[in-house]
Amino acid sequence: AILLTGSVLLLLFVVGLFYYSIKNLIKQKKVADIKTDFINNITHELKTPLATLGIASKSLHKREIQESPEAFKNTLGILDRQNTRLQKLIDQVMTNSLGSEDLVLHKEQVIDDAYFNNLLDDFSLSVQSKNLTIDRHIESEEVVLRLDTFLFTTALFNILENAVKYGKESLVLTFTTRLRNNHYEIVIADNGIGINEKHLKYVFDKFFRVESGDVHNVKGLGLGLYYTKQVVDAHKGSIELESELGKGSKFSITIPVN
Ligand code: ADP
Repeated sequence: AILLTGSVLLLLFVVGLFYYSIKNLIKQKKVADIKTDFINNITHELKTPLATLGIASKSLHKREIQESPEAFKNTLGILDRQNTRLQKLIDQVMTNSLGSEDLVLHKEQVIDDAYFNNLLDDFSLSVQSKNLTIDRHIESEEVVLRLDTFLFTTALFNILENAVKYGKESLVLTFTTRLRNNHYEIVIADNGIGINEKHLKYVFDKFFRVESGDVHNVKGLGLGLYYTKQVVDAHKGSIELESELGKGSKFSITIPVN
């Protein structure tokens, strides 16, 4: 009996060890996969704006561009936008090692409707898609908000850009803002592919991307919404997401006023 118990215990020990090693291996493989994905994706994200910058800056030497004020202005616009895109990307990668408590905010006062209308104008310009409709419901209450405008604009751009990235053919974005007691609410809704309920709680996590062949023809780093949440948290606000697969997603941000 002692021998039998000993053998069973030994067997259990070996099985346990085997299970532990396999689990560890899977974990290591996952980390390795995340790293490889990250490097592939960041290379892609850097290459695209750099290539566009290269083409646009070379074209400034061309006579036909120099002789047409319109074409010259357009090319400068491209240089400017791609430069901003690179800056934002680098900012997001750097911020990903920080938590919201480490973010240093440089706040300024902005008037709500002017700030949000400008932001949406810039966004529409940067997208230049004919199939995009933005429904604006921005209350003109002349509310003064104190925001780090660089960080906050980038945070909202991440949500808006995702709506385009994960949108369907004809994209309708609804952008609503309102004052509720001492809180200011910003709601961004899209009619895109939506997110499965089981994934909802992970979308604000660092490096999380929904694993699905269809969706991930779209490149990304899985850092955008993590960054957005850090920025909203640093403003002492909150962010929530409701989504339905196939129907669309709705992000609600609340920040304190004063
Ligand atoms: P990235 O877009 O770089 O993958 P994000 O952190 O911005 O990273 O988003 C995380 C994931 O959440 C995305 O990969 C995508 O699967 C999903 N997601 C984000 N926004 C939307 C949206 N508006 N509609 C559908 N899925 C979305």
